[in-house]
Amino acid sequence: MDSNENFRDSIGTISEEGKRAWVFPKKPSGRFYTYRKYVSYALLVFLVAAPFIKVNGNQFLMFNVLERKFNIFGFPFWPQDFHLFVISMIIGVIFIALFTVAFGRIFCGWMCPQTIFMEMVFRRIEYWIDGDRGAQIRLDRAPWNAEKIRKRLLKWTVFFIISFLIANVFLAYLIGSDELIGYVMDGPSQHMGTLAALLIFTAVFYFVFAWFREQVCIIACPYGRMQGVLLDDKSVVVAYDYKRGEGENGRKKFRKNEDREALGHGDCIDCLQCVHVCPTGIDIRNGTQLECVNCTACIDECDTIMEKIGYPKGLIRYASEVEISDKIPFKFTPRMKGYAAVLTVLMGVLVGMLFLRNDLEATILRLPGQLYERKENNMISNVYTYKLINKTSQSVPDINFKLLSHNGTITFVKGSGFDVPAQELSEGTLFIEINNAALSGDKDKVKIGVYSGDELIETTTARFLAPHSYK
Ligand code: SF4
Ligand code: SF4
Repeated sequence: MDSNENFRDSIGTISEEGKRAWVFPKKPSGRFYTYRKYVSYALLVFLVAAPFIKVNGNQFLMFNVLERKFNIFGFPFWPQDFHLFVISMIIGVIFIALFTVAFGRIFCGWMCPQTIFMEMVFRRIEYWIDGDRGAQIRLDRAPWNAEKIRKRLLKWTVFFIISFLIANVFLAYLIGSDELIGYVMDGPSQHMGTLAALLIFTAVFYFVFAWFREQVCIIACPYGRMQGVLLDDKSVVVAYDYKRGEGENGRKKFRKNEDREALGHGDCIDCLQCVHVCPTGIDIRNGTQLECVNCTACIDECDTIMEKIGYPKGLIRYASEVEISDKIPFKFTPRMKGYAAVLTVLMGVLVGMLFLRNDLEATILRLPGQLYERKENNMISNVYTYKLINKTSQSVPDINFKLLSHNGTITFVKGSGFDVPAQELSEGTLFIEINNAALSGDKDKVKIGVYSGDELIETTTARFLAPHSYK
């Protein structure tokens, strides 16, 4: 491997003058690229379809931050379920961390929406309109003639349309697909504010995919910046086998009928194809780098070259540093075991909490500033507000409350037997009356059962105030 580490002082997409060095990657082809196409298109279909799929009437995935409604895999989450949301997020982070420790940036190359949209949608359109690397470089350097103007206008228009479609899908995640379809039916003139938001999202996506591109992965993405702390020499990454590639006397251009082994040269023929195909503009032969998104394009390209010159494939492959330097195969390290154990515990907690989660959540609180009231026949009355949240997609009918811990009565101001509509909140005021003789102190904890008809669906507690003399 090149012992000169100067390449780490700069990034491949910024020139020495500090200007953007535009990358014109060669069109990839090969085994991994074909697999990645399948995975990417399946994920694209999922990404676009998820806000339009309904499970029990709930949108499959929704992140409505404005109304604080979240659906994950068809489960509606309310702000009251925020702890579940946080645990899900922590699990997601540990899952990605575990994968990174074990398999490097595999997520970036195979699953990240940025890579999928950039490499499998926008870049492919670019190849279709502008041609492969050589043609793109020539077009870039060419004066603004009729062909360049035609190609640029076509490309920018197609990019804009796709950015607009992505913005629509993004909005369906944010405000809900029903709402979005309703707005489209009404026409843009009825919802100018939403249209403005849509155009801002479109502009952001256009900027990212038409111009900012690989800079997202190199500069902006926090996950990319974490690689330095997550990776170690046992992590499997896209790596150049420098032992094999450099030999004793380094890499050298290929010459027919030359005995490279006798001359001490490695298998790398310095054809630079792995560099030309790289969408982040790096030379993987320098070693693992921050810019590498593990897209596998260089593996495919080098395999093609090796095949052509009759050498074994895999000069660039998925491998760890220790595998290349010491021929130690992949092992499940203590760090990976630790992450896996934490992940298993958290997933157990999440599943448990999901099962224990009630479909209807009740909160009963004493009305602030109100004391108790003495009534006839030694009865003490307290006034409360209640909130019932129906997290299901079905209405919960015939609601009534019963005291489970004490003998007493519960009276709703608006009357009992009401329904809580699907995914709605119902709130109001109620009185609890308990005979003083049944109270054990001046601040009894009372247990209340929430019933739908005769079925007990939730229990909750509240404090019941009484005069000191009743202690
Ligand atoms: S593609 Fe393979 S042979 Fe060609 S320069 Fe890269 S590592 Fe060397
Ligand atoms: S070095 Fe290889 S795997 Fe990494 S980004 Fe470049 S082409 Fe993709």
